[in-house]
Amino acid sequence: MENIIDKIKTVNDFNFKNKVALVRVDFNVPVDRSKSSHKISDDTRIQYSIPTLKKIISDYGKIVLISHFGRPKGSLNRDHNSLKIIIPLLSKQLKIPIKFSDNCIGENVKKNVKMLKNKEILLLENLRFYKEEEEGNEKFALKLANLGDIYVNEAFSVSHRSHASISVIPKFFDQKKCIGLLMKKEIQSLNKVLGKNKKKPISILLGGSKIYSKIKIIESIIHFADNILIGGGMAYPFIKEKGGNVGNSIVIEKDENEKTKRILKNIIEKCRKKNNLFFPKDVVIADSFHNHATKKIVSIYSIPNGWMGLDIASSSIKYFCDIINESNTIFWNGPLGVFEFPNFSLGTKSIAKAIANATERGAFSLVGGGDTISSLKIEKLEKKISYLSTGGGAMLESFKNQILPGIKAMISS
Ligand code: AMP
Repeated sequence: MENIIDKIKTVNDFNFKNKVALVRVDFNVPVDRSKSSHKISDDTRIQYSIPTLKKIISDYGKIVLISHFGRPKGSLNRDHNSLKIIIPLLSKQLKIPIKFSDNCIGENVKKNVKMLKNKEILLLENLRFYKEEEEGNEKFALKLANLGDIYVNEAFSVSHRSHASISVIPKFFDQKKCIGLLMKKEIQSLNKVLGKNKKKPISILLGGSKIYSKIKIIESIIHFADNILIGGGMAYPFIKEKGGNVGNSIVIEKDENEKTKRILKNIIEKCRKKNNLFFPKDVVIADSFHNHATKKIVSIYSIPNGWMGLDIASSSIKYFCDIINESNTIFWNGPLGVFEFPNFSLGTKSIAKAIANATERGAFSLVGGGDTISSLKIEKLEKKISYLSTGGGAMLESFKNQILPGIKAMISS
């Protein structure tokens, strides 16, 4: 990870005049489908790509944008997964019209690219309409590669995937490939947690509900994290494994059980020696999954049957905040409770405040994951964090596999 950024070019190393920049972005934005109009509910990913696109346009370059959107899994689902939905917002932010091609490969796309003038942008349809994208198919990657003169990866959040547009396309560009300005920032902030100059003690706080994928990450952070704090839905499988009664709290899906139990045991054993794994002490439990459910506070080890833990309670909050206060590097992914229910949001809010305070006194804080960032925004604390990552999953994967496939592919030989 250490010097990786020195081996990769950025958009600032190129002059895009008269060139076609094939830019891989992540426009996989959340959409509110409850209304018939289908509105984009958070445009952060579009916003963050703007500086890179503006740099290319100001050079008098031409832009071909490629992205995935949702999970059509190789089928052409234009009703739910068309990237057309992005056009109004992107056009508004860049203050120029955006051209659209209803496919990402084929003769029509080639014609559309040929007709592009300097300072124009063409957005291609969803890459995942082709199963070849997720399969990392070389022929598909080559068809895409043929559309551009310079490849730009501005999709850090997908760089842990060995997909055609991420880790295969760069092979066809030799020296003519670079990363965008956002991707550079993401790699630099990861370096502050994983690199040689990280400031210790390092605390890694994991919550949320994607238990299985995050448990695998814990195995890889044991050796470098001084403190691993486990909260939210992530805590209950551990407590169950340690012999506690977790009632109806969230645990692991059955089919993942045996494998995950082995990993859990392994983590508990390794951390016992290092004494660096911390769990909540008391939790707020509810008799149903509802904001207005009856609630009470109990030890996390003795949750009655029929009740579920939906937040961390005051002793746990103090215990976690004290550790955060003494940390100089803090990574946080996953809320400490069901923060969407105001009655179960105190734990998440308190931790967010503690991280903001630690940052104010000089600690480096890195926060990733859509829900975690939303919880910071609710408290208006997002500006008080050193860096908010657009790629929670990619960040977590970096702990496991320090050079992600999409980053490795960008190193010029
Ligand atoms: P993740 O995507 O893994 O960060 O998970 C975020 C989700 O985890 C949020 O929607 C939270 O409501 C949920 N969550 C956090 N704590 C709990 C819990 N104790 N029980 C159930 N869901 C939880």
